[in-house]
Amino acid sequence: TYVVTDACIRCKYMDCVEVCPVDCFYEGDNMLVINPNECIDCGVCEPECPAEAILPDTESGLEQWLELNSTFSAQWPNI
Ligand code: SF4
Repeated sequence: TYVVTDACIRCKYMDCVEVCPVDCFYEGDNMLVINPNECIDCGVCEPECPAEAILPDTESGLEQWLELNSTFSAQWPNI
């Protein structure tokens, strides 16, 4: 799965949402998250993010962000 990280906070760009083929982005007050259960790992969103906030969960040190994406995608509205 891909993971949205802190660079997304207050970013306001939605380019990633536009390209996601499975609509697995969810929106909170100040950032977006990806639902790891719905993401098909296509990687299309990563280069679209102007803040470089989206990373593959294979990168080290993203455990807490993966957990945050999982938790909040279950609570926030799908966009
Ligand atoms: Fe959507 Fe693909 Fe990005 Fe996953 S990697 S969030 S499926 S665009």
